[in-house]
This record gives sequence, structure tokens and C-alpha cells, in this order.
Amino acid sequence: MTRVLPAESGSLAEAARLLASGSLVAFPTETVYGLGADATDGRAVAAIFEAKRRPRFNPLITHVPDLESAGAFVAFDERAFALAEAFWPGPLTLVLPRLPNCRLADLVSAGLDSAAVRVPGHPLARDLLRAAHRPIAAPSANRSGRISPTTADHVLAEFPEGEVMAVLDGGPCPVGLESTVLDLRGERPVLLRPGGLPIEDIERVCGPLARPDGGGAPRSPGMLDRHYAPGKPLRLDAAVPRPGEALLGFGPMAATLNLSPAGDLAEAAANLFGCLRVLDAGGFPRLAVAPIPPRGLGVAINDRLRRAATPPDANADDWPEVCATMPCMAVVDPDDEGD
Ligand code: AMP
Ligand code: MG
Repeated sequence: MTRVLPAESGSLAEAARLLASGSLVAFPTETVYGLGADATDGRAVAAIFEAKRRPRFNPLITHVPDLESAGAFVAFDERAFALAEAFWPGPLTLVLPRLPNCRLADLVSAGLDSAAVRVPGHPLARDLLRAAHRPIAAPSANRSGRISPTTADHVLAEFPEGEVMAVLDGGPCPVGLESTVLDLRGERPVLLRPGGLPIEDIERVCGPLARPDGGGAPRSPGMLDRHYAPGKPLRLDAAVPRPGEALLGFGPMAATLNLSPAGDLAEAAANLFGCLRVLDAGGFPRLAVAPIPPRGLGVAINDRLRRAATPPDANADDWPEVCATMPCMAVVDPDDEGD
């Protein structure tokens, strides 16, 4: 059974103790709930992959309490430093070269020589990271490919067999979308995943972002097409529902559920995954969603909706082949970890 820990100081000490012993603890961040493990412990990190049924070639984001802690694991150049100064704590993940003496388990990086790091803005997450005295690897606390959790109840529903030792309950996640992921290893920063920090804000600090080219192999496993998906078919850009469809609305309109009747993108982002879960569990066999403006957080909302709408066979069977073409395909055995 997964224990639910209320948001209080005794819970933080207990969650930190569980993490130190190699257990999995889910915790709230401002983006979504993360499934946390000690990022320096190869076996604990392997347990994340097992619980999520996540392919081992898909690297994880490491969470740290501040910029200084991140500097112990990855190499910051001036541009990375400026972005971290501008947006941390917050929903921005930076992919940077691992330092030669980096203590993060190889499995965190799926064998790559880079690592993704973030300082989350949620006060409970930061308190936990400080109490844990170790970096915490934490992907979203859902089974791979499924809808990300934005409440503790969602986490419990994803892992009914108790693979997760505890979930720290901090209520609903205020942003509700995963972090924006930037690859800072090349000459120009590359947007690997749109997310909770709007692209326009980032470009004001570091100039135009490059998008990974559409052709060829995905640069990052999170770019595989189907992801964040409900069990039911989803139709995009729907003005009115067809027979048998539940309509997820945006702005003033008649709908089964509405992401934001006022047409507010931040409210829509915060409601997106919870609404998809409710409609997925409801009586309608099919889902449809109204058009979402493609600006600000709307870019990330549309990205998640497009992936959720991709039919299940679009890449499930292709995964081994797709992955074989990826630079990050390295398979790592946690038993081989030096740390
Ligand atoms: P998730 O853990 O599901 O929130 O996804 C993390 C995202 O960051 C995925 O899209 C990963 O592929 C990406 N990512 C994490 N680490 C790296 C890395 N070292 N290089 C490239 N992408 C990464
Ligand atoms: Mg995820």
C-alpha cells in the first residue's frame, strides 16, 4: 500500500528517510507530481523505470534545491547560467554535459554524457530536496505514455499495486504541464519539449530557440509521438461534439467539461490532465477538444493534445526501431553502476 503523507514537516523527514533508503516517493512540483528516487543510486533509479514501465533509453530529469547544487553535476556555461538565473526555481529543465566526476547514476542519463536538471518552484518540492540532501531523479508519476498526474489521487490511481512507497500530498499542481526542456549543448539552444515555461519568455533571455528538425530520429525520447494519452480516441480542433463524443471546451461554449470558460491559458494548462482523466473515466466512448490558441502555454497544451490524439499503434510497435535510431539508445544495467 502506498502511504499518503500530508504536507507537514514530519512528512518531509519521513519522505527524506524513504528516499535515502532507496525507495520511491512521489511528490508535488509546480508542473506535475514526480516519481522520485535518489539520483545517485542506480538501483533506486532502476525502480523508477520498472514502476513506470518506462523504456530504459528515456533519460530522467534530476531535481535539485538550487543552482549551486546543479553545478555539482553538470557544466554550466554563461548562457545556461543566465537561463537558470532568470527562470529557476521554475518549470524549465536544462540538458547540459555531465561533469567528469558527476555522481548521478548512469541510468539517470540513459547512458548519455548529458543530464537534465531542474530546480522546481513548488515549496514542498524544494523543502523535500533540502531535507533529502541528495539529488532526486523524478519523471512524472504515471505509467509510461499515460496522462501525467496533477493530484496525489492521480498518483495512487496510476500505481495501485503499491510500487510507490509514499506520496507527499501537496494538493493540485499549480502549472499542470511538464517543464519546458532545453538542450543547451549546441551553438543554439534547442527546444526538446514545450512545457510550463512559455517559449516567448525563454527567447527574451537567450534569443530564438532552434526546434529539432522534423525529419530523422527524435533527439530526445520524450519526442516520441504518442504520449500523455487517455485510453479513448481523442479528436482535435472540434467546434461541436459528434455523437458519442464528450467535448472538452475552451472559452465560452457549451461543452461536457471546460478547460477555462474565461479562455485563460494558464487555467487551461492547470486543468488539462485532470479533465482528460475525468473524461477518460466517464461514459462517453470518444473524446473531442476545442481549438486552443497556439501561443504562450497554448503551445505546450497543443503539444500534449496532439500526442494524446495520436492513435495507439502510431509508435507502440515502432518503438524498438525508432529507439535503435536514437543516440540515447544505450542500455544500462543498474548492477554495473559504479556508485
Ligand atoms: P519526463 O521525465 O517524462 O518528464 O521527461 C523528461 C524529458 O527530458 C524527456 O523528454 C527526456 O527525453 C528528456 N531528457 C532528459 N534527460 C535528457 C538528456 N540527457 N538528453 C536529452 N533529453 C533528455
Ligand atoms: Mg512524463
